[in-house]
Amino acid sequence: MEAPRDGDTACILIVDDHEDNIELLRARLESWGFATESAGDGEEALQRIEQSPPDLILLDVMMPKIDGIEVARRVKGNRSLPFIPIIMQTALDATENKVEGLEAGADDYITKPIDFAELKARVNSMLRIKRLQDALEERERQLLEANERLRHMSQTDALTGLDNRRYLEERIDEMFEHARRLNEPFACVMCDLDRFKSVNDTYGHQAGDAVLKQFARILRNEVREIDRVGRYGGEEFMLLLPGTVLDAAVTFAERVRKEVEGHTFTFDGTQICRTASFGVSAWPHPRIGNCDVLVRAADDALYVAKETGRNRVVRFDSDEFNEHLAADEGSDGSDRPRDVITTPRVADEGIRWER
Ligand code: GH3
Ligand code: MG
Ligand code: MG
Repeated sequence: MEAPRDGDTACILIVDDHEDNIELLRARLESWGFATESAGDGEEALQRIEQSPPDLILLDVMMPKIDGIEVARRVKGNRSLPFIPIIMQTALDATENKVEGLEAGADDYITKPIDFAELKARVNSMLRIKRLQDALEERERQLLEANERLRHMSQTDALTGLDNRRYLEERIDEMFEHARRLNEPFACVMCDLDRFKSVNDTYGHQAGDAVLKQFARILRNEVREIDRVGRYGGEEFMLLLPGTVLDAAVTFAERVRKEVEGHTFTFDGTQICRTASFGVSAWPHPRIGNCDVLVRAADDALYVAKETGRNRVVRFDSDEFNEHLAADEGSDGSDRPRDVITTPRVADEGIRWER
């Protein structure tokens, strides 16, 4: 329910088991410009409040079945309702009622017989508080929304809308640990567009951006709900596939490779064809003891795919992978810029890279 803004008509629910009292209060409140509704007992009051929360409740204490104290307690205890000020109507001498009513959550009280000047002042004061409270709640809601937007921005790559690298790295730790706990396989696929630089060089940076976005869309369409796909670097992407063994991940990567190969990227009426290379690794594997090694293994497989002609899927620890990296190590050196396999990396269980 919206706060009664200045100029809006506030709606007041009158709850009383005596029809005469209701009519008297209704006449006054309406003459002051308020809209009114009424309920003849506590049960009816609670129903009305849930259906359409009023801006204020003028609540009689003594009623059959559910009395005013209980109505106040339930209204204030219902977290799905907005703040609704409650003014209790109590008998002049019933101090006990006043205390009980205020403790149950009533915000104010007025004694019977009602002094209407006082009633008007109390109603206006409570409606002022209601407006402030509603404004506060609105501000809080906006803050929560802004926080949510910020959280999303901090995890998302702005160009492609995929997970960004930092978020992927957070997630991979969690996903790997989860897989390990359940003893379920877990695969990692690294992929990189082939000769992407020439897209920029030939058609311009914007065309390059368009290709990256379309490539990201292909990846997103190919993965399942439980997979994660993110942009790892410029034109390098990472896919995390829980519950997937190495063979299945290779089959998956091959499917994506074909999809990219058959796809025509477009930018401003220009048609651009590109391929992509893939490196695939998976746990469990005797040479993969933690998720850093898992990622490095996929990255190394991607490197081999690039070295052996591009537009290919290479599997970690395949003969080709091992032969190629061994040859690489044997050569003096290394057109391989990265310090990866050539430095033995120790996996968790103390297993070293073997060749
Ligand atoms: P390879 O087949 O070996 O992967 O060759 P490549 O040209 O794809 O790779 P290289 O690493 O030589 O070049 C990557 C290029 O990607 C260079 C860089 O300017 C471009 N790039 C990186 N991020 C973006 C981006 O956000 N937008 C655009 N348009 N280009 C980008
Ligand atoms: Mg590339
Ligand atoms: Mg690259």
